[in-house]
This record gives sequence, C-alpha cells and structure tokens, in this order.
Amino acid sequence: MQADVSVGGAAAESDLFARSIARVQQAAKHARIDPETLLRLSAPRRTVEVSLPLRMDDGSLRTFRGYRVQYDDARGPFKGGIRFHPQVDIAEVKSLALWMALKCAVVDIPFGGGKGGVEVDPRQLSLAETERLSRAYVRAIADVIGVDRDVPAPDVYTNSRTMAWMADEYASVVREHAPGVITGKPIGLGGSLGRDDATARGGYYVLKEIEALRDWKPSEIRVAIQGFGNAGQHFAKLVHKDGYRVVAVCDSRGGVYSPEGLGIRQIIEHKTEQGRLPDVGEKIDGTALLTLDVDVLVPAALEDQLTAKNAKDVKAKVVIELANGPTTAEADAILHDKGTLVVPDVLANAGGVTVSWFEWLQNRAGIYWELEEVHKKLRRTMQAQFRTLHARMTELGVPMRTAAYATALERLDRALSATGTAKDFQKGRR
Ligand code: GLU
Repeated sequence: MQADVSVGGAAAESDLFARSIARVQQAAKHARIDPETLLRLSAPRRTVEVSLPLRMDDGSLRTFRGYRVQYDDARGPFKGGIRFHPQVDIAEVKSLALWMALKCAVVDIPFGGGKGGVEVDPRQLSLAETERLSRAYVRAIADVIGVDRDVPAPDVYTNSRTMAWMADEYASVVREHAPGVITGKPIGLGGSLGRDDATARGGYYVLKEIEALRDWKPSEIRVAIQGFGNAGQHFAKLVHKDGYRVVAVCDSRGGVYSPEGLGIRQIIEHKTEQGRLPDVGEKIDGTALLTLDVDVLVPAALEDQLTAKNAKDVKAKVVIELANGPTTAEADAILHDKGTLVVPDVLANAGGVTVSWFEWLQNRAGIYWELEEVHKKLRRTMQAQFRTLHARMTELGVPMRTAAYATALERLDRALSATGTAKDFQKGRR
C-alpha cells in the first residue's frame, strides 16, 4: 500500500542502497562476525533486469521494466516478494532484497534474501492486463527461480491472485506441479491458512509483548496506521478487536482521524467495496498522521517516511514498522535519543515470510496445517525473537534495529564462514 507521501525524489532513491549498506556496516560493529561476512554481503549475488512487452487492452504495445535481485542464499533459497509500483527501481529492489536476507535470519528461518519488482502503476491496468504482466514477468525470470532456488511472494500491490497467475505460469513453463516455487498463493492452489494476515499478525504478536512489558490497558492506547493495504488493514482489525483505539488510518489518497477511535469494520468494508476510505471523522494526510498525538505509530506503506525532518515531532512511544524501510538512519537516531522504541521492519513485519516458510513446508510435505497450528507457531517465533532482540538491545543500549541487524549478521556469518575464512586459510588450518 502506498502512502500519501512522496519519498524524497530520485536523488534520495538512487542512494537508498548505499544508505542501506551503511546501516548494516554500522550495526556490524556490535556483531561477532568475520570481516569477510560483510564483504560477501556488500552486493547481491545476482541481479536480473528484464523488459516486459505487454499488449494493452486497446491494442497498443507498452514495455515495462522488471527486476529480480538475489541477494544471498547461504542460509537457504533466496526468498522475497514481488512489488508492482511506479517507484520501483534497482536501488530499491536491492535494498529490499538485502533486508529480506536480514529478516529471514532475524526470525531464523532457512531462507536467504531476494526481491522482485515491476516499475508500473497497477491502478492504471485492467485486471486482464495485470494478469498478462504477471505471467510475462514469471516467464522472464523462470530460469532463476525454483522451489530450492528462489521463492517469490506478494508485496506492495500484489496479492494472492497475482501469486496464482505466477504459480500457474511457472507450472506451465516447467511442465510440472511446483506449488512451493511461490508463496502467498490462494488456499485452493496450495496456499497456507493464515498467510493472508500473517504480516500484520506478526506485528500484533510483537505489540502483545510490549503490552505485557509496559502493563498497557488496550482501551487507553491510541494507534495510528499509515498505509491501508494488506498489512495496515489486518493490523487495524486485530488490534481493534483487542480494544485498542485506532484513531487514524490513511491510504495513498489521504486519511481519516478521530481521537475517540474509528469504526474499523466499517472502514475496511468501504475500502474493499469502493477502493477508498469513507468520509468519517476529520480528514488528515499521510504525513500529518505520523506526528499525531498517539501511543503507537504503525508505518505500513513505503520507505523513508520517518526522516530527520519529522522524527523529532513523532509523539508515539512505540513505532511498529510493518512497511519495509520506513525510518531513515537519521530518524532512527533521533527516535532512539527520545526514548521511542522502534521495532524494526526485519522483526515487526517478518510474520509474512515466516508463514511463507510454513506454506513452503506444507507444499513440500503435501500435508496442510490447521489455522490454530499456524497461529501458534507464528506466535512462538515472534515471541522468541522479540525477547532475544529486546534483551540484546537493552544490554547494548542501542536501537532495536542495531540489535536485530547484529543478531542477523551473526546467523548469516555462521553460514558464510562455514567453508573457511582468510584466517583459516592463512594458518593452513584443517
Ligand atoms: N513481501 C513480504 C516481505 O517483505 C513477504 C515476503 C515473503 O513472504 O517471501 O516480507
């Protein structure tokens, strides 16, 4: 889901990858790893760029640029979603792929990191054009993906139907049934129960940990959510059901605000039927939403929303990053100094890829799990990793992102260093 905010123009975008690497290097100072690990993680293993010619409904031909970045697969097959968005470029996809490598290590699942994207505004395509584009994209990257190679999933402006087209197209390219090549599929095609709300649910389990730590009473806690796509909507629903006061939500067109709390069920119904938020409460834009007087802020849209410019005005005590990369390094430092707890994307939104792993396991085993089992296993993962990172953050006195990156780097290091490092070879150790 796109936010109602631009992300700082082309200049900021092109250096997104350099900024992402700099943050990893910074966090590495707190990690017990061999220097070679950082060297190996300084660039993706493979980047694929494709041009996709598409016959439009009116008979004209257009071409779209697509990418698949395979960042690292030391811990398992490359894993990560596919985004359809006009802002997609190589710097963004590389950053998102690096974050996936860290994220899979943070939740300790046997996957590496990858990401894909097509530079397109899907809101301007018909359903049939979107299907043709999805199928063309998979045909173009079919040689580099695979159940044990690289496993895509949904991301911004793609969903279970997009995954159905892609899985179907892949099966017809390789001429065999291969449901495990893509996760986030509809249940009928081998999707997992509980994958639809998994990203939000993972963040919700994190919130429940914080609620217990801080002795919060949900009815007293005000929540603002930026972005009303899959993650934002499901998160709103889950916390609203628990009695939290969701006071503001927004989508790419703008938002609504009511200090008393919004009727989430009705808002989701309206958004599903009309494609936009209803006229309730006060109107608010996506930038103003970030600095509202709330307790919990949930960026669930795009990168670079909390920046050096607005971080000092953030009033929330807790930020739960359901989006990937919503907080810049400068904003992170400002928020840390103010005592704001920022639960980083690589943990907060890792519920999605965790249930993707469950889906992949079910596809390979040919046995399907009950919803309760998915929830129980997801909760156990989120709880365990939140507690590990919270303890490390407290011990080191650093932002939770630094603790998360350091922990992920150590897990990646165990795989990347296993075949030997310079130290071993120079000493001739066996
Ligand atoms: N696109 C999601 C993410 O950024 C899910 C990835 C996946 O399930 O592979 O984490």
